[in-house]
Amino acid sequence: MNPTPEGRRDQISAGLDDVRRRIATAADAAGRDPAAVTLVVVTKFFPPSDVRLLAELDVTDIGENRHPEAADKMAECIDLGLRWHFIGGLQSNKAAAIGSYADVVESVDRVKLVNALNRGAHQRSHPVDVLLQVSLDPPGRAGRSGAEVDDLPALADAVESARMLRLRGLMAIAPLEEDPGSAFERLRGIHRSFVAQWPDASWLSAGMSNDFEAAIGAGATHVRVGSAILGPRPSIK
Ligand SMILES: *Cc1c(COP(=O)(O)O)cnc(C)c1O
Repeated sequence: MNPTPEGRRDQISAGLDDVRRRIATAADAAGRDPAAVTLVVVTKFFPPSDVRLLAELDVTDIGENRHPEAADKMAECIDLGLRWHFIGGLQSNKAAAIGSYADVVESVDRVKLVNALNRGAHQRSHPVDVLLQVSLDPPGRAGRSGAEVDDLPALADAVESARMLRLRGLMAIAPLEEDPGSAFERLRGIHRSFVAQWPDASWLSAGMSNDFEAAIGAGATHVRVGSAILGPRPSIK
């Protein structure tokens, strides 16, 4: 059953309060300032009316994972002044389009995408913040996404030489078969060495509804949370 608009606002508000409390507790436990953790609310499969409610509840950052749905939703919400993060797998034939509207692209995992993203960013004359997605999966696993650690330097160089792209950090997803705490500790080490070489790349996007506390414990600056705030995703669009 669909809730009334007021009911939906209450649901989202309660989910948001709960997640904000969990972020504060995890930051405290890690001796970190909760304000150093940006909450990116993932609105994939949910309507623009939910994005509007989130903006009223002081959410500033929105995550979307599919083109062109992301573009349409953003166009409907353009008056809200939100920061839009593209967090989904990137196809090279869509990268230019995504570069023309996203504020942050978190899922750059191969050099081939860089020129297209840069072209898209030029179209709007708006620089795009880029995170490199690094794989935490065991090598050779089917369907893995993200660059190998060894491929990060070449990728970082490509982004740095693209005029409209700004290299801001790394993004990762914890593997299903591993404890997120240990996966994110590995990620922390990878990020440390990366920042030593690219000092502007201080962002670390890690953690979803089920594991963001562990990610905050390992230094995440951005958590990407959907279902814990918006409820289970509808199975049919
Ligand atoms: C969907 C998605 C999320 C949010 O997942 P929840 O479990 O709903 O919090 C985070 N990151 C990526 C890359 C996603 O695709």
